[in-house]
Amino acid sequence: MPVKNVYLLDLGWLGGDIGWFLPGAAGGAMTYSNKNPKREWVLIPVSAAVIEHTDGYILFDTGIAPDAMQTHEKGLMEAFPIEKFSEENRLEKQLALLNLKPEDIMYVVISHLHLDHIGQAVIFKDLKTPIIVQKKELQYALLMLWQNKGGAYDFADLAPLRGANWIPIGDEKLELLDGVEAEFTGGHTPGHQVLNVDVGNGKKFTLTGDYLHLPKELDLQAKGWLLGDADEWHTYIAKMRMRLASKKYKLIISHDPDLWNKYPKAPKPVKWE
Ligand SMILES: [Zn+2]
Repeated sequence: MPVKNVYLLDLGWLGGDIGWFLPGAAGGAMTYSNKNPKREWVLIPVSAAVIEHTDGYILFDTGIAPDAMQTHEKGLMEAFPIEKFSEENRLEKQLALLNLKPEDIMYVVISHLHLDHIGQAVIFKDLKTPIIVQKKELQYALLMLWQNKGGAYDFADLAPLRGANWIPIGDEKLELLDGVEAEFTGGHTPGHQVLNVDVGNGKKFTLTGDYLHLPKELDLQAKGWLLGDADEWHTYIAKMRMRLASKKYKLIISHDPDLWNKYPKAPKPVKWE
């Protein structure tokens, strides 16, 4: 198989209100019979993935800027503060666990441009590494930032990437290397995409980015305040559930603390089992 391994990188932890991720009562909303629900603050891992392929290495997402608490919008960092981050969580250090340097990465694929996914992409700017993003995502992020309505997009992430080797794609699906495909989902942000990785015999991992933050969203078939376009989100969840039922797909949901504690992390590969 052209895909040799999938590795997960540990890029620190953020905090946030459970309501961002889960809807209704599951997300702490008041209900008729519980008008005094307990709000929950959750810690979520921030991660990236490396796909080792016979033709090269692909990086999916780049985590959060190490100094975001100082450089990013105050309100954003109040909502999603960095709770844990050490030198070991720098992308270069995580790549080094696989004996890789940034220049060994052939393509960087970005699920979407929120702070915890684009934050360390700047290390690829001068290397001119292709940064593959949905064109809609780049347009929307810049449009909102230009109006001072950035939400979870931050100028401190995007301004230094002006002139990087952006590859803004408009494809619903784009095969990057044999068996590795970026797929548009929308739903969370206007240009959100996932990565499908064929690990042999037609078995594919879908790296969900933030289309799903927590597996409970899949069970509930609903998302919390981070739902973007509901029509897009619900269209894709039907496709995802059908694929999962075929047993040919498995999800890697990278923001879930429980799953994260179970997933092997670089230098150990994730195994299909
Ligand atoms: Zn995220």
